[in-house]
Amino acid sequence: MSHLKQAKEKIAGLKKELNAIIVAHNYQRPEVQDIADFVGDSLELARKCVGVRAEVIIFCGVRFMAEMAAILNPASIVLLSHPDAGCPLADMIDIDTLRQWRQRYPEAAVVAYVNTAAAIKAESDICCTSANGTEVVNAIPSEEILFIPDQNLGHYVSTKTDKKIILYPGFCHTHASITAKEVKLAKQRYPQAKVLVHPECRPEVIALADAALSTSQMLRYAAQSNDKAFLIGTEEGVLHPLRKQNPDKEFHIIRDRFICPDMKKTTLATIIDTMQTGSNVVTVPEETGIRAKQAIDKMLAIV
Ligand code: SF4
Repeated sequence: MSHLKQAKEKIAGLKKELNAIIVAHNYQRPEVQDIADFVGDSLELARKCVGVRAEVIIFCGVRFMAEMAAILNPASIVLLSHPDAGCPLADMIDIDTLRQWRQRYPEAAVVAYVNTAAAIKAESDICCTSANGTEVVNAIPSEEILFIPDQNLGHYVSTKTDKKIILYPGFCHTHASITAKEVKLAKQRYPQAKVLVHPECRPEVIALADAALSTSQMLRYAAQSNDKAFLIGTEEGVLHPLRKQNPDKEFHIIRDRFICPDMKKTTLATIIDTMQTGSNVVTVPEETGIRAKQAIDKMLAIV
């Protein structure tokens, strides 16, 4: 039996034993996505975890996502698929800094991208994802918004609203590393391709794209489009579901090795280890969880 098949069988057995489900982000390795019960972006995974009836949720993604699963489904035990899978963007803001910024802009509502720690969500007015940032900003009463922590997503939202958006200077190393020059070169190579980029990319990159979309929106766009070729500007893991769901279409990544190192820490071996040892339990202090949930629920009520 092949190594891959053995690993898959092992995971299937452990799932039954633990009464577990496995959820995976679109940026995970293809073989990890293939063994998951549900694959999606942050918003879809958050929604999925609300009603899950499993004793254990194995979360294949990064820590802030597993924290959201724990907050939204306190009845399940949440295990993160690798102990050190974090998000450098989420780590760019801490509580003291957020409080200082709040004092500087006392009139502003704090809109926190979900790529933040639970403690930051707990101090925010509402959350948003890359799929719904504009809708969230436009739906809340405040005319002044302190958008944390991703300045590129915040800038993109600012182009879609009349409200005043104050940008916090965080960024995703992976998405911000793509340059306009690389996009232009890729467009020369594939002149017919529609260019879809993630809103965590720099404004000059988004300006060259046909659309700035979350990963789930990219999947919908590609499925519904009559176009046959696409240039993708986000973590390369999303190529797997794009190609699987659209076998008659071509997908090219804007630059080779467009990867999030933290998303790639999870392998089938780390999943097996996590399940066998019951390690990497993700918990959120109760008081923090209650307040963070309010910010997440407000978002889920809007979109
Ligand atoms: Fe964080 Fe960027 Fe990785 Fe997403 S791709 S988990 S924002 S570092």
